[in-house]
Amino acid sequence: MYDIDTIRADFPILSREVNGKPLTYLDNGASAQKPRVVIDAITRAYAEEYSNVHRGLHFLSNLSTERYEAVRGTISKFLNAGDENTIVLNSGTTEGINLVAYGWAMPRFQPGDEIVLSVMEHHANIVPWHFLRERQGVVLKWVDVAADGSLDPQAVIDAIGAKTKLVAVTQCSNVLGTVVDVKSITQGAHAKGVPVLVDGSQGAVHMPVDVQDIGCDFYAITGHKLYGPTGSGAIYIRPERMAEMQPFLGGGDMIKEVCKDRVIYNDPPMKFEAGTPGIVQTIGLGVALDYMMGLGLDNIASHEASLRAYAEQRFSGLNWLNIQGQAAGKAAIFSFTMEGAAHPHDISTILDKRGVAVRAGHHCAGPLMDHLGVTATCRASFGLYNTTDEIDTLIDALELAHELFS
Ligand code: PLP
Repeated sequence: MYDIDTIRADFPILSREVNGKPLTYLDNGASAQKPRVVIDAITRAYAEEYSNVHRGLHFLSNLSTERYEAVRGTISKFLNAGDENTIVLNSGTTEGINLVAYGWAMPRFQPGDEIVLSVMEHHANIVPWHFLRERQGVVLKWVDVAADGSLDPQAVIDAIGAKTKLVAVTQCSNVLGTVVDVKSITQGAHAKGVPVLVDGSQGAVHMPVDVQDIGCDFYAITGHKLYGPTGSGAIYIRPERMAEMQPFLGGGDMIKEVCKDRVIYNDPPMKFEAGTPGIVQTIGLGVALDYMMGLGLDNIASHEASLRAYAEQRFSGLNWLNIQGQAAGKAAIFSFTMEGAAHPHDISTILDKRGVAVRAGHHCAGPLMDHLGVTATCRASFGLYNTTDEIDTLIDALELAHELFS
């Protein structure tokens, strides 16, 4: 039983007001709010259990290490990775993809080698690959989305040529909500001998994920979108790829021994985790994932599917609103523009006056904005605690904005 009132009561911020109105938080695609259990875990970690991890021999260091290391197992369970040593802990997807770019791709790719990307990628899954283009002459091959925002897996597979060394795709667009069939893409890419990186920043928030079933080589997540703290995250790396990877950041923790003339690295995954990590952030992420799994990942997905269906029905009555991307099976993420002169920033300012938080801008998705022929959109993105009443509030606020701007 998915008791939305009880769930909402778990998130203290949801009961506050903004601009004299109850908060309607629809900016989950940018960052999600945190349940009390996460906030309490952060306080407890600092107030009662804090010390640096791994290096100490004293009580608090051991306790802190135990709490921190346990999260590797929690993430492995959350992604059904099967082995916690496939999980590299980090500060989020941006760091995870940069690790793959610097540690795996850069030492291996030659001028003329290709990386296949969809036009729907977030800059975090674009800019690290531009580094390889700029520095090593690697070629980026782009696959378009269809008019409804869907991405044909076969089009991605067909784009793979003899020189393709990697396919890097999102599982869920942060702009359109399009869900990508990353399993079919992985099967097709692997049949051609090409590894696949999946950006799971949004996907893991909205659907149960099984990285073994997908079969991908890399799967990146970011904690703050998963109801956990900022500065937390992880990347799943298939053992064969992990064995091929060189360390990206050097420093403490990722070594066994350092001498004047040589260094012996730690065993993976710690080989890829240099320096003092986000200890408390990671502990908070573990609690957030336990919270999600406690609600049931399928239950969250079906709650969000009903929000999506209700929002689609309400949006369909607004013929002055252009919803970008209406692919079947999409997540509850809606980007839109309004007919007339209203800029998305102006629309979001009006919505904010009604307590409705949405995002306006390019959403770190420049190539997709070009493809759509817009410079910016407004985006309402839903999470596990949103309600159909909040969709009504959004629609009322949009009608007000439309009246003001027409
Ligand atoms: N990929 C997608 C699809 C995203 O939506 C985001 C965040 O908006 C990122 C990557 C980057 O995540 P982070 O900034 O947490 O590293």
